[in-house]
Amino acid sequence: MILTLVQHKDGIIDEVSLELLTLAKQLNQKLSTKIASVILGDNTEALSKLLSQKAIDEVITISAPELKTYSPDTYAFALTKLIREKNPKAFLFSHTPLGCDITPKLAASLGVGAIASCNGVEFEGINPIFIRSVYNGKLQAKVALNSTPLLLTVERGAFKKDEETGNAPTTAFACDFSGIKSRYKSLRFYEAQKASVDITKAKIIVSGGRGLGKKENFELIKNLAEILGGEYAASRPVVDNEWTERDRQVGSSGKIVSPNLYIACGISGAIQHMAGMKKSNVIVAINKDSEAPIFSIATYGIVGDLFKVLPVMIEELKKLKN
Ligand SMILES: Cc1cc2nc3c(=O)[nH]c(=O)nc-3n(C[C@H](O)[C@H](O)[C@H](O)COP(=O)(O)OP(=O)(O)OC[C@H]3O[C@@H](n4cnc5c(N)ncnc54)[C@H](O)[C@@H]3O)c2cc1C
Repeated sequence: MILTLVQHKDGIIDEVSLELLTLAKQLNQKLSTKIASVILGDNTEALSKLLSQKAIDEVITISAPELKTYSPDTYAFALTKLIREKNPKAFLFSHTPLGCDITPKLAASLGVGAIASCNGVEFEGINPIFIRSVYNGKLQAKVALNSTPLLLTVERGAFKKDEETGNAPTTAFACDFSGIKSRYKSLRFYEAQKASVDITKAKIIVSGGRGLGKKENFELIKNLAEILGGEYAASRPVVDNEWTERDRQVGSSGKIVSPNLYIACGISGAIQHMAGMKKSNVIVAINKDSEAPIFSIATYGIVGDLFKVLPVMIEELKKLKN
């Protein structure tokens, strides 16, 4: 069995949990087992109904007042018990604060290894080799685990959201917390200051780099993004120069995005930038240097001056829209 932990808040499933299902299904092509999503909470009924519409084998709920809010003590207790009873081949967590907190705790209590921040998988025979960024995105490390269950945290945006629908049965997993005293008490939630935009959710991104030359020219990027109904984004030098907001930086020290369409304009394709956008479905690169590394991952490349190419694209798209 491959287990995935469902993250949720206020009755809404975090989409990152659906990205885990995509990795689970890739693993399952080799591990040939079953996939179950695990929901913890004080009242999991509505969430389990939502999850049961996914193409998985089972939804496992662990419902208890002790699980109303996250506590490493109660969560680790419930999940360790579940792992001991179900003996899964893998348990996947999102690389969120919760996932980063609970995964090493489980690994330590089970005496197994864990891989943090996984963003890809490949196989040697049937053995999965996980890929994770190291040295701030400069290198990709390939890591194998020789213990089971495979415990992983998975980067947000590294895998597409699983869209397959199905009809999965729900099983309640009983857990008696009477001997467990949580050392943590959640007092209240504070809303994080809202970012101006969440580019990780955008389907279309037009991104500008240092090739734009100066702040005023960034308007071209905004115009193209607007006409395509997408978001605009940037490489780090553009953000460092304050041509646009920091929330919009793509890359290893910015956001990891995987839109349907990513248009990189005047971006050379440094490894730190590509770490943040290489999973995009279609990548269009516009650069006057035909040797620019960005072309190595581009689906379509335009070797040319962006100040000539972008106005034509904007005009043609306007005509199409009208
Ligand atoms: C620890 C660390 C973390 C980092 N994190 C990030 C990160 O998260 N995101 C990120 O983006 N970078 C990051 N960087 C920086 C990264 O190494 C690069 O310096 C940066 O990505 C380069 O940005 P750029 O492609 O916009 O600029 P450049 O590399 O200067 O490229 C500009 C490109 O524009 C092209 N160009 C110029 N004029 C035109 C024109 N008129 N028409 C068409 N093309 C033109 C040029 O040919 C060139 O390829 C990080 C670096 C470090 C050390």
